[in-house]
Amino acid sequence: MALKTREEYIESLRALNQKIYLFGELIENPVEHPMIRPSLNSVAMTYELAQDPQYEGIMTTTSHLTGKKVNRFCNIHQSKEDLINKVKMQRLCGQKTGSCFQRCVGMDAFNAVYSTTFEVDEAYKTDYHERFKKYMIYVQENDLVVDGAMTDPKGDRGLPPNKQADKDLFLRVVERREDGVVVRGAKAHQTGMVNSHEVLVMPTITMGPDDKDWAISFAVPVDTEGIISIYGRQSCDTRKLEKDVDIDLGNHNFGGHETLTIFDDVFVPNERIFLDGETDFSGMLVERFAGYHRQSYGGCKVGVGDVLIGASALAADYNGVAKASHIKDKLIEMIHLNETLYSCGIACSCEGCSTKSGNYQIDLLLANVCKQNITRYPYEISRLAEDIAGGLMVTMPSEKDFKDPKVGPYIEKYLKGAASVPTENRIRILRLIENMTLGSAAVGYRTESMHGAGSPQAQRIMISRQGKLESKKKLAKNIAKIKD
Ligand code: SF4
Ligand code: FE
Repeated sequence: MALKTREEYIESLRALNQKIYLFGELIENPVEHPMIRPSLNSVAMTYELAQDPQYEGIMTTTSHLTGKKVNRFCNIHQSKEDLINKVKMQRLCGQKTGSCFQRCVGMDAFNAVYSTTFEVDEAYKTDYHERFKKYMIYVQENDLVVDGAMTDPKGDRGLPPNKQADKDLFLRVVERREDGVVVRGAKAHQTGMVNSHEVLVMPTITMGPDDKDWAISFAVPVDTEGIISIYGRQSCDTRKLEKDVDIDLGNHNFGGHETLTIFDDVFVPNERIFLDGETDFSGMLVERFAGYHRQSYGGCKVGVGDVLIGASALAADYNGVAKASHIKDKLIEMIHLNETLYSCGIACSCEGCSTKSGNYQIDLLLANVCKQNITRYPYEISRLAEDIAGGLMVTMPSEKDFKDPKVGPYIEKYLKGAASVPTENRIRILRLIENMTLGSAAVGYRTESMHGAGSPQAQRIMISRQGKLESKKKLAKNIAKIKD
């Protein structure tokens, strides 16, 4: 079975026995939990769209490992076209969910680990790449969701892993056995962990020779003994727990999530270890994963941006201001910013190249420029959306009041905009904008745009490294006729 249906995916999650804590309680049935379910629905969309013939070319491809049809989220990119289609797929998924669909982190980890293990083997005569290829075949054949886990809690940012007061602040090997290793530590901001089958762990920073025990990459099932996930809070999250809630959620069906995931002495068998002690390659792995994920945002955030722009245009229609020239101009600006982000995602894909292992990697400079813009433009797009929506977006009465026989008719009457538009539609679209700019989806559209795949300064470091300033100086000297 190379492609699971949405239902098969949901059933496969039910079979897992993950330890997930939320509000201090162990969650018995995460699949049906009202706070978790919208995020599951977003991942399920990646399965649903892959079954739809009209999206076949974008959502699926042929595995270079098995020759079989696979979901593109499980693909090892074989060409520039693959990189471009990846971004298109992410835009599509963002358009369909209006939120984070979580499955990209694993895809980006696959491609970074694939190329890095090849180069580690070349240097150290290890066999990580073959192991990883076997693992990828397992992932593809079972159409799995794999959580890519990179970010350690990091403790004192000024100290390397081996100098931390608490050595577990970076995930590390605490015991070596004949058949594998035991690891301890944690990974923060784990997007989609609860909706995943497996977790693929990578180191989070460039490491030195004294950090050998921390230079570890491996994959295990998410319900392996010792793994505990603590579910992250989101703005307005408890609205999802209200009885019969619909309108007040803004986006009733979809969402995203993050966890703090603890590895409390977790055993990893040898065949699932993909880096162990080769500290000089941790930087390469981090850089490549970050590069792929910075490209990813040029797809997913653009798709979500499409929804926000559409919602803003509808709000303008419903408010009766669609013809005002400043409203038209604001919508044009939103489109311009959104398409600029898309251009960056496509550009770093078009300028991609083959790695030594044969898979394709994005242009790192352009991927970092892409993400740097992502740390800014969604904020401006959100500002314009709030400007167009008007203050009602944050002062409207609740859905319960709207449905109340006594006060509901007042809301119906006094919150009416254009006469032809039902008040409920106006409320619904304003709640959607609230959800994306201030509510639970703002986690993905705003703050994650800032910090996900590395905070702005991380991109600036890469831009300074890749920016070829010396060769630019040479260009200027040539034209100005300056001789050294
Ligand atoms: Fe995918 Fe975007 Fe969510 Fe990252 S933030 S997992 S790239 S949808
Ligand atoms: Fe992310």
